[in-house]
Amino acid sequence: PPAPKLAGLRICCIGAGYVGGPTMAMMALKCPEVVITIVDISVSRIAAWNSDVLPIYEPGLDKVVKACRGKNLFFSTEVDQGIRDADIIFVAVNTPTKKVGMGAGRAADLTYWELAARRIASVAETPKVVVEKSTVPINTAEAISAVLHGAGKTRFDVLSNPEFLAEGTAMTDLDNPDRVLIGGNMNESGKAAVAKLADVYAHWVPRERILTTNVWSSELSKLVANSFLAQRVSSINAVSAICEASGADVDEVARAVGMDSRIGSKFLKASVGFGGSCFQKDILNLVYLCQSMGLADVAEYFHSVVMMNDRQKERFVSRMIHGLFNTVTGKRIALLGFAFKKDTGDTRESASIEICRRLIEERASVCIYDPKVEADQIWMDLTAATKLDKTEVQKYVTLCDSAYEAASGAHALAIATEWDEFKTLDYGKIQEDMVKPSFVFDGRNVLDHDALRELGYIVYAIGKPLDP
Ligand code: NAD
Repeated sequence: PPAPKLAGLRICCIGAGYVGGPTMAMMALKCPEVVITIVDISVSRIAAWNSDVLPIYEPGLDKVVKACRGKNLFFSTEVDQGIRDADIIFVAVNTPTKKVGMGAGRAADLTYWELAARRIASVAETPKVVVEKSTVPINTAEAISAVLHGAGKTRFDVLSNPEFLAEGTAMTDLDNPDRVLIGGNMNESGKAAVAKLADVYAHWVPRERILTTNVWSSELSKLVANSFLAQRVSSINAVSAICEASGADVDEVARAVGMDSRIGSKFLKASVGFGGSCFQKDILNLVYLCQSMGLADVAEYFHSVVMMNDRQKERFVSRMIHGLFNTVTGKRIALLGFAFKKDTGDTRESASIEICRRLIEERASVCIYDPKVEADQIWMDLTAATKLDKTEVQKYVTLCDSAYEAASGAHALAIATEWDEFKTLDYGKIQEDMVKPSFVFDGRNVLDHDALRELGYIVYAIGKPLDP
């Protein structure tokens, strides 16, 4: 059936981050008759959303925000007003790993979520549909429902609608999602709430791709999806270790294995390890949930995915040290890329942070270049990771404005992020300014290794023989 008219519908999203911003911008573009307000407690973030320089970098986002802002898309710090006016309230606040207390290092910290829910409960005057957009543990909807109804002022339906976008491709993912998942209660009002949200998505997503499930299945599916994706990365990275020890080539193995239609070829790229705010956090959350349910063996199984990822980063640095004649102390290393993947300025859990921390520990001199990450962010990440103050970190780390500047006088180039521009650098020119022999450690297997060897580089790649 054609998507029903939505005129008059008002949506509010609490949390103007990597998820709240892009998802609501896409919704505003596709549903021009719906008024969407994104609210956040961060004054600077909202100011940036209302400015020419958005607070996050995502290809295509700029254009959509500029097309809708001030028409049917608004960014505001007036959280209460946003809540009061809305029929549907998405909550897309951060749910990081708990730092202290019970479950520290594994469980999800739901403080921000609970605060948002308490705010909704205290200011809402009419019935609302409250949508979990953040990734949350199973059964969170029940807890949230209890908080919302605690004030006893009005009625709420809580839905789970996890977000599957990937940073760097958020806008195309949102435009054309593999599926939209909506979980809700099976009572009459729950079914009506699910239908209402499905009608919004149906404005651009084919109905057969809108899945509705019970609320727990939906919450769990998000954790499982991220665990499976991360598990594939850890599996191919484990294979890369075997390749390096045996002379096999991980890209050849991935191709041969991925052509089996039962396995599939996507997400089989060996690398220095996965990063990003979600994979590790969500697996650890699943591990904690399993432990709480008395499923120690299942917890151990998923935990090995994170352990393998940690090992991969350490192996990368160890190979670098071994390659550079067993020491990197005082040697200049050009670290190319600091974002956790290309086409984003996000550094959360980026492998570069751990690589850099280890290189500082080894007293190397690290010159970092990333096309998108802000300098302040790098200093924040490195002071947090090393527990050193900024002046101490600056004894070992320099930030550069180009790959050429970072590489000048370096013993080695280390590719940590697969930015397209690294593929087309003039490596001949770069080598002229490097210490000889010059090394490349390609942590993403994105460079032309044969061409680099022709130029005289010694090339270490992930899961590939040193001298093929
Ligand atoms: P983020 O940190 O970029 O954004 C969260 C925003 O919420 C921040 O701007 C913060 O100021 C705001 N906030 C926190 N508490 C608030 C409150 N009480 N009231 C108003 N605003 C509040 O986080 P993100 O990357 O957008 O992730 C949000 C959620 O989405 C997380 O649960 C995450 O796991 C999930 N998720 C993230 C991605 C991703 O690629 N980043 C993908 C899918 C799902």
